[in-house]
Amino acid sequence: MQQLSSVLGIDIGGTNIRLAHIDRNLKVIRSSRIKVEEAEGGLVSYLSEAIGEFTASAEPEIGAIGIGIPGIVSEAGEILSCPNLDPAITGINLRETLMAKFGVPVYVQKDVNVILYGEYRALSTGPSCSVLGFYVGTGLGFASVIRGRLVTGARGFAGELGHIPVKGKDDPCACGNNGCLELYAAGRRITELTAQAQTNVADFFVNPTHAADVQEWLDNLTIGMVTAITLLDPTVVIVGGGVADMQGFPFEELEKKVRARLRHPLVAENLTIKRSTAGQLGGCLGAAMYCFDTARGEIE
Ligand SMILES: [Zn+2]
Repeated sequence: MQQLSSVLGIDIGGTNIRLAHIDRNLKVIRSSRIKVEEAEGGLVSYLSEAIGEFTASAEPEIGAIGIGIPGIVSEAGEILSCPNLDPAITGINLRETLMAKFGVPVYVQKDVNVILYGEYRALSTGPSCSVLGFYVGTGLGFASVIRGRLVTGARGFAGELGHIPVKGKDDPCACGNNGCLELYAAGRRITELTAQAQTNVADFFVNPTHAADVQEWLDNLTIGMVTAITLLDPTVVIVGGGVADMQGFPFEELEKKVRARLRHPLVAENLTIKRSTAGQLGGCLGAAMYCFDTARGEIE
């Protein structure tokens, strides 16, 4: 068991890479952001350089590095699938590469896992709490902390809720399968619908032209949420992501639809459904909390 003074939390998104030096009180000492396309020389070499720049001058010393990436990572730290980033990164063991270079523990997780871990810790509800996170962006991200443990599965593929099959649908998905839920319940569908109608993506939820589309889209998202809640019996459900932050996002209506399909009364009436409060540094903070808790021996 070890108490770290400070860690480096890194959030690699499809668009931005954020690094934040964070102390044990979760105060951000220093942070930086760069666009993914500006990461010269490939992602791994950019990361090495950026981390080196932080560790060289860090006070207090950085005792661990936590990283969230928009892809699937094995328990050992190998990137197994990451279609939204440089394809060259697949197959690289990011954990071992960075540990060898910097000599501190490195933890690499799917981005939504670290975001949800941070939100779960911020709830301060204790280790018996189960929390699910639905992060609606271009795709449908999902993560779960069950009785205090982040669920990653045998190979890192747990929680790929966006890729459950939808009956009667066969559009091709980036995952290699067809008819996956996220094609009909996330941002990509909104882009398609607004392109067809020649309307503005940002107005999707408030434009009367799309009233019927919004209902269908919500019904699709409801299927995913109710499925996960029914399987995992959480105490708290969090809804976040870029689409959930759009103007007029019908959060109350979504909540009503979800509660209507849950088991009554014990699940439907005893579940907290709330909006994400992760914010722009949520991924970095969640990755940092994961590092601190692991060093303290709270995560096996
Ligand atoms: Zn898929």
